[in-house]
Amino acid sequence: MRSRRVRDQQRLAAGQVSSPRELEQLEHEVGTLERRISALEDVELEVMEALETAQSALDQLHREMADLASQLGKRESTRDDAVTELDSQAREALAERNRLVSELPETLLTAYERVRSQTGGIAAAALRQRRCEGCRLELTAADIADIAAAPADEVLRCPECNRILVRTAESGV
Ligand SMILES: [Zn+2]
Repeated sequence: MRSRRVRDQQRLAAGQVSSPRELEQLEHEVGTLERRISALEDVELEVMEALETAQSALDQLHREMADLASQLGKRESTRDDAVTELDSQAREALAERNRLVSELPETLLTAYERVRSQTGGIAAAALRQRRCEGCRLELTAADIADIAAAPADEVLRCPECNRILVRTAESGV
């Protein structure tokens, strides 16, 4: 449109158009071209402003992304440290368990492992206030009487959940 306007204006300036009708048409065309060019320039300006806004939003998102990536990196590092620490604790706990296992009588160990597989984890529970801490149930008076009469080295079982019951000073026996 701009080059056409230039061409039209050059034709007018050069006096190439002699017919009044053609001259009027050409001037009209130049006027139309100028209005359309001006309207398109307004649109161009709006587009440039929108582009600027979008670019600024994009820059902001890039900054946020970089910030999140940095936070993620720190958290991953914290997590990795925690995993390393837990691994170390697990190794120590396992070593301690192995040491304790080596000191236990074979029969007790066999019973313990059997109950452990049956209960899905906890095979021994404290007897506290007449209650088995494995299944949380209170033992009957008759069960408590049996336990009170049992020798100190006898391996006791919870009558409800079959876990090995460990007597303590707080057993209530
Ligand atoms: Zn129990």
